[in-house]
Amino acid sequence: MITSQARPTVSLRLSVTEQCQLGCLYCRPAPGSSASKCTCASEPLPFDDIAYFVGLIQSHFSLTKVHLTGGEPLLRPNLAQLIRLLTDQKLDLALTTNAQCLKKHASPLKQAGLKRVNVSLDSLNPATFANMTRGGDVKRTLAGIQQASDVQLQPIKLNMTVLRGLNDHEIEDVAHYGLRTGCEVRFLELMPIGPAQDRFDQFFVSAAEVHKRLTREFSLNPIEAKPGQSARRYLARDSQGRKGVLGQIAPYTRPFCQGCRRLRLTSTGQLITCLASGNAIDLSQWLRQRNLRSERIIKEIVTRELDAKCMRGPFDTSRSMVAVGG
Ligand code: SAM
Repeated sequence: MITSQARPTVSLRLSVTEQCQLGCLYCRPAPGSSASKCTCASEPLPFDDIAYFVGLIQSHFSLTKVHLTGGEPLLRPNLAQLIRLLTDQKLDLALTTNAQCLKKHASPLKQAGLKRVNVSLDSLNPATFANMTRGGDVKRTLAGIQQASDVQLQPIKLNMTVLRGLNDHEIEDVAHYGLRTGCEVRFLELMPIGPAQDRFDQFFVSAAEVHKRLTREFSLNPIEAKPGQSARRYLARDSQGRKGVLGQIAPYTRPFCQGCRRLRLTSTGQLITCLASGNAIDLSQWLRQRNLRSERIIKEIVTRELDAKCMRGPFDTSRSMVAVGG
């Protein structure tokens, strides 16, 4: 029996494809390695199945936030169609993207009902960016951010995953860029999953170290956190009096498991409740069936998995974010 005295809060991250045109060193297994094979045995879930899942969750839980992600979500053909299906359901709808194609897509996606974007931006330097992403063009990402701003896909959040020896010398530059452009920059700790497992000790930079660096150039005043929020956010001010918001997400040194109500659905319909664990439950057959029985089963699985959420154990998965949906 499903118990739902008060409707539990849930936020969803939906991967719409495993495909990505970039190959971020810590996210996607190296080409040719055994782990590099796409895990999608079949086509990604059709939009109707995704919208059905969202509607089901919404009817049973308190769902306010939905992030579309991937892989690179802008590579999924006709993404605006999915956004239209989801905006009918009155959600805070965000997209996490590398923004390589955002210049072209920002306006149609905004018109379809997308509210805001999170953009991965590990460097402003063309050579560093190309190296970390295996061939990405930072100019395209910056043009995408500009276009998102022009069409009011706001607030724009920029995610910088910090890796020692690769981009840690650019922490301050990216923070200044955020203040100049009015985007909130969040510095992410590397997680030891997927290809980041191998050289984790070499690359890892703690949030505490990043914070120390930032305080040399910015005054940082903590902003009160909302329940379940993963980022610690600060009102930042630089030496010229320019203001903005900087944040830190520290899944490794400061796990935010308490109050975590995130659920992930992979592009093939696997339900994942914790990034640290390798567990996944295949919902695809139930999503396809769409009858009263399958609806009850999905609700029961989700309720059970939410109830079982607890402080995570050690990171224990070779599954990469490109396959999970970050
Ligand atoms: N392609 C989109 C993008 O680049 O934003 C969405 C998917 S990507 C997997 C989402 C986020 O996952 C990126 O911001 C990336 O930095 C983060 N990510 C991937 N692997 C990670 C790891 N091992 N540790 C921390 N963050 C990771």
